[in-house]
This record gives sequence, structure tokens and C-alpha cells, in this order.
Amino acid sequence: DSSFLSEDTIVAISTPPGRGGIGIVRLSGPAARAIAEPLLKLRHPLAPGQARFAEILDSTGEILDEAVVTYFQSPHSYTSEDVVEIAAHGSPVLLDHLLRQCAAHGARLAEPGEFTQRAFLSGRLDLTQAEAVHDLIESTTLHQARIAAQQLGGSLSRQITPIKQQLISLIAVMEAGIDFAEDDIDLLPQAQITTQIAAIQAPLTALEHSFAYGRIVREGFTMAIVGRPNVGKSSLFNRLVQRDRAIVTATPGTTRDLVTERVSLNGIPVELIDTAGLRDSADEAESIGIKKSREAMSEADIVLLVLDATAAPHEEDKATAAALAGRPFLIVINKQDLEHPESQIPETALQLVRTSALTGSGIPELRRAILSLMTKEIPNIETAVLTNQRQQQSISDALAALHQARRAATAIIPHEMILLDLYEALRALDAFTGSTSSDDILNLIFTKFCIGK
Ligand code: GDP
Ligand code: ZN
Repeated sequence: DSSFLSEDTIVAISTPPGRGGIGIVRLSGPAARAIAEPLLKLRHPLAPGQARFAEILDSTGEILDEAVVTYFQSPHSYTSEDVVEIAAHGSPVLLDHLLRQCAAHGARLAEPGEFTQRAFLSGRLDLTQAEAVHDLIESTTLHQARIAAQQLGGSLSRQITPIKQQLISLIAVMEAGIDFAEDDIDLLPQAQITTQIAAIQAPLTALEHSFAYGRIVREGFTMAIVGRPNVGKSSLFNRLVQRDRAIVTATPGTTRDLVTERVSLNGIPVELIDTAGLRDSADEAESIGIKKSREAMSEADIVLLVLDATAAPHEEDKATAAALAGRPFLIVINKQDLEHPESQIPETALQLVRTSALTGSGIPELRRAILSLMTKEIPNIETAVLTNQRQQQSISDALAALHQARRAATAIIPHEMILLDLYEALRALDAFTGSTSSDDILNLIFTKFCIGK
């Protein structure tokens, strides 16, 4: 095992800046206990895995605060090192004093993410799990938290381990074939090599595809609502936001500025943009609004083009639809509650959703249509999903190398050559879990963390 324990002891305030009911100073490293103990008046000595009541003393021995102190003995801690957590009252001066005292007694102030980095370096977390810690802290919806928690629990690592094992045993068999070729041990038949490579490619390909969903869960997307004035854009916006945020009026052309709101669409963060009606206008303020609408439309990840069911599609709508061709967009035919003629839009050609922003009918269908358009397929929550570019890159590197290997195997290239590609794939999988990542990559990942985590 790549066990690595640091020699120095780090300290940080692990709770967010500002005042709070509780503030936590955390120490990790071999001297954690030795540094903390002189600052505390303990009624009972620290014991592994147990919380202790303590008074915090200043340098003259006066009592400053009361705290609960927890000691985690190596290797049974977050970092695998000795960890002491002092949970005092959340006063910035007090916590700062504690921090300085720890530093005066030999602790070093922790860098951002250094506790998690130590957990990674000690082998307690792999890189995908360390990334999940960050995602969990940054999550803005419960669904994001759930996906991050699964990853922290090792869902990606568990998925990759058997695949890697398969690759390693293929490599081993092929290496043996080469080593003992003179002793008449047969080389693995070519057909078997290609089937075995294919068996490794299949689950990796599925995993790679999960990124379409994982990226959106983590980063969310922007959605612009466009259409002619008065078709019900703001009303639909409000339905999706479930609050009366955008101004709804019966006079066309009143949403002059862009109204944006972050909403959670089935746990996925969505930046929703209500735009001014798309139409030519003499009014200057309105023209600016229309310009902004067009910009929002061109930048959004998905566009809802809203039509009024009671009116025939306008030339402008057709032009907008044409401009959106090839991009993710949905046509929403609103005001279904009113008397309306048969739609003249060919159902087969486009993704249509019929709604009434007034009654709310069709809104759940609209949400579903948006999600399925943005995520292609929503993977089974039981399976792991890739959540960032780095993970995706490693998997696609592995797949590219496997593809190469398979081509080489079909062309009956010497096994040594096929092996080069297989080793390349193995390296990519190792990079995925972080067992062979460069310091640069690691630094990039951990510096994104907050201090104290
Ligand atoms: P926007 O200009 O496209 O943003 O349209 P608004 O959302 O401001 O709506 C314009 C008018 O249409 C308002 O009077 C709304 O109450 C009304 N409206 C919006 N959606 C519906 C709907 O589904 N059915 C009916 N009957 N009226 C609607
Ligand atoms: Zn509006």
C-alpha cells in the first residue's frame, strides 16, 4: 500500500468564517495531541474516538471558553493520522487565538484541502473520493449531495476495480505467453484477446456515457425561455420557479430585462432566463431587452420556444425555430386551457410539449422533457456516474488505448505491441483513481478546497 504519513502537524479552523454557535479547530499529524493538550484543562484524558469536555486556557492559565474535544487515533481518523478536533464556541477571536496557540506549539497552518489531501496520500481515499468531498461541500441541491456522497462512499472506485482487474489479468496472460513462448506455451489466440478487450471496453463505455448526466448534475445548465410577447413565457417561468418572481402582465412587451433565477429541476441546478418577447420594437428600452433576449438565446444550453395555442405560428417563430436547429430546444405550446385550433406544427418533426401556465397542466411533462433532452438518459441512481472532466478524460484515454490495442490484435501485430496499448490503458485507469497522478494535477484538485477540509 502507498501508505504515506506526514511528519508535521497541521491546524486550521474548519468551520466557516464568522460567528456561530460552534467553531472547530482541527489538528492532524503526529503531534496533534501533544499540541492540543497544554491548551486545555481536561477533566478526563483524551481517549481515542471519544469526546471530552474541556476548558480552554489562555497563556496565563485563565479560562477562555468551554469546549468539546474529540481525539481520533491514527489510523482511525479522516486523514489516517492522529486528529484532534476542538469544538469551542464560534467566536472568531477565540478560534483565532486557538489557532495561534496551536501554531506556537509547533503546528503548521494547513493549506486549502490539506486534510483531504492527507487522507488521499495515506491511501484512505482515492482521488474520486477526494473530489467527492469537495463536491459534497459545494453541493447546492440534495441530489448533488447524494451523488457526491455515493462517490465519497467509493461508488466509482468499486466500479473501476473489477475492470482494472480484468485488464491486469489479460496483461499477465499475454506477458506469460511472451515469456514462455520458447517453452511452447501458446500465445493467447487473437480472437480471445479481442473478446477480452471488448469485455473491458463495454463497462468503460457505459461509464463514459454517464458523464452527460454527471456533468449536468454537478454544473447544472442554463435555459432561456423565448417567444413572442404575451404567449406566457413569464407565467411558465413562474411555474418552473414556483414563485411569483417574473412580472406577469397582460400588456405585451413588459419583460424588458432578463429575469434569471436558479431553480432545482429534479435536483439539477438550472439557471432559468425569462426573456423579453422576441419582436421588432420601436421602443428603445424594449429593443435593448430584445437584443439581450437574442444573446441569452444564443448562449443558453437549452431553449424553450413558447407558442400560443390560440394563435397560428408566426413567421418569427418559424425563423426562431430554424435558428435553433441542431441545438437542444423544445417547443412549448402554451394556453392549452383556452379554445384553440388543431396545431399546425408537425408532431413528428419536433419535440413538443403542451402546457397551460394558468392551470399548471403539462408542467411535469415539460420538466421531464427538459431533463431528458439535457441528460439523454438518466442513469440508474445505483450506478456510479462520472462527475468531472478529469475523470472523463482518464476514462476516454483508457478507451482510446483499448481501441488501439484491439486494432493491433486484429492486425496480428506482435503481442509486445498490443501490450504497450494495454499498459497505456492501465495507466489511464490508475490516473483515474489517482494512484499515478502528477503533483501538478493533485495540487490543482486540492487547492480548490476550502481551508480546514
Ligand atoms: P409573456 O409576455 O410571454 O411573458 O406572457 P405572460 O406570462 O406575461 O402572460 C401574458 C398573459 O397571458 C397574462 O395575462 C397571463 O395570465 C396569460 N397566460 C399565460 N399563460 C397562460 C395560459 O396557459 N392560459 C391562459 N388562459 N392564459 C395564460
Ligand atoms: Zn414576460
